[in-house]
Amino acid sequence: MLPLTDAQQAAHVAEKIQVAVRRVCKLGHHELVVTASIGIAVYPEDGREFEVLAQCADSAMFRAKESGRDSYRFFSSDMQARSLRVLQIENALRSAVVLNQLALHYQPQIGLRDGKLVGVEALLRWHHPELGTVSPGEFIPIAESSGQILGIGEWVLRTALAQARDWAAAGLRDITVAVNLSMVQFRHAGLVEMVQQALADSGVSPHMLELELTESIAMDDPEKVIAIVGRLSDLGVRLSIDDFGTGYSSFSYIQRLRVHKLKIDQSFVRHLAEDVSAQHIVQAIIGLAQSLALETIAEGVETVEQRKVLQTLGCDTGQGYHFSRPVPPAQLEGFLRGQSPGTP
Ligand code: C2E
Ligand code: MG
Ligand code: MG
Repeated sequence: MLPLTDAQQAAHVAEKIQVAVRRVCKLGHHELVVTASIGIAVYPEDGREFEVLAQCADSAMFRAKESGRDSYRFFSSDMQARSLRVLQIENALRSAVVLNQLALHYQPQIGLRDGKLVGVEALLRWHHPELGTVSPGEFIPIAESSGQILGIGEWVLRTALAQARDWAAAGLRDITVAVNLSMVQFRHAGLVEMVQQALADSGVSPHMLELELTESIAMDDPEKVIAIVGRLSDLGVRLSIDDFGTGYSSFSYIQRLRVHKLKIDQSFVRHLAEDVSAQHIVQAIIGLAQSLALETIAEGVETVEQRKVLQTLGCDTGQGYHFSRPVPPAQLEGFLRGQSPGTP
């Protein structure tokens, strides 16, 4: 708190804090670099109460992080609108499960060699009577920062497993159902037990469940992550790394994680047909996967050209609008009855 200060002086102080924080620390053999993202709220323009000011500063700090970190931002009116929306979503989400507003859609995953359906990915959908359809890209980060993702994530897992059980009971046995796990769920101590209990309650065989982790889990305590992935793998569940290629995981780290599959991020698939460097990246990921005996799946396959390049490069599986959009379970019947995949 800076009494008797104007905006310009506050900015000056923020810069000085950044310089002080940026100094390199030596810890044993390691050189650690820390940066600061700072949000500034001004009394009385942005608010008259401490809570309001703190929240404004928080929004501004998030904006500083979004624009690349190591910077400072003042609170502004567009942030006000944004933080209002975040609050609205956070409140509305609280009753989304109870009020039956959540649903899962399923997107087919197709073997690129034989065109057969090998699995589906469960993707969360939320329709709210006033807010309308809110995309997971918007509400999942909010659910993560408010902690609601733990309850929602368990609902997703249990719903997907119930669906898998119904499909298996209808004689459709050999497909896996992939469920996205949030980093927050992954950090939660009870994750392995929760998955184990949900599997037991559903009666679904563990090998039919695939859990998608993001590459950014590598940013956390690596030994702990390796241990949890190992315990999940011991349950018999399959594991994949989502959005692969966008993070910074090392070869030795991937080697030690007991995962089964790498999901090549859509950003590389998008320009595959016309961009040679995208081809090289995909080729490198497939090479890495093959050398570690991991399967590969390409996300965001939209055209027949992309599919052909992926086939040539030896990618195992594809997922994307070219095969099908994510659809409600009833619309998946055709695929499940073994029909050849149609285009959207
Ligand atoms: P993701 O897991 O990487 O899922 C792939 C996203 O790409 C989905 O977006 C899917 O609808 C979209 N997509 C599929 N094929 C294509 C294509 O050919 N072209 C393009 N442009 N997009 C395609 P969606 O459903 O909006 O989900 C966004 C993200 O939200 C997901 O990315 C995932 O990170 C997260 N998410 C979705 N459902 C859940 C969930 O149940 N739990 C958690 N923790 N995260 C979820
Ligand atoms: Mg995914
Ligand atoms: Mg992805």
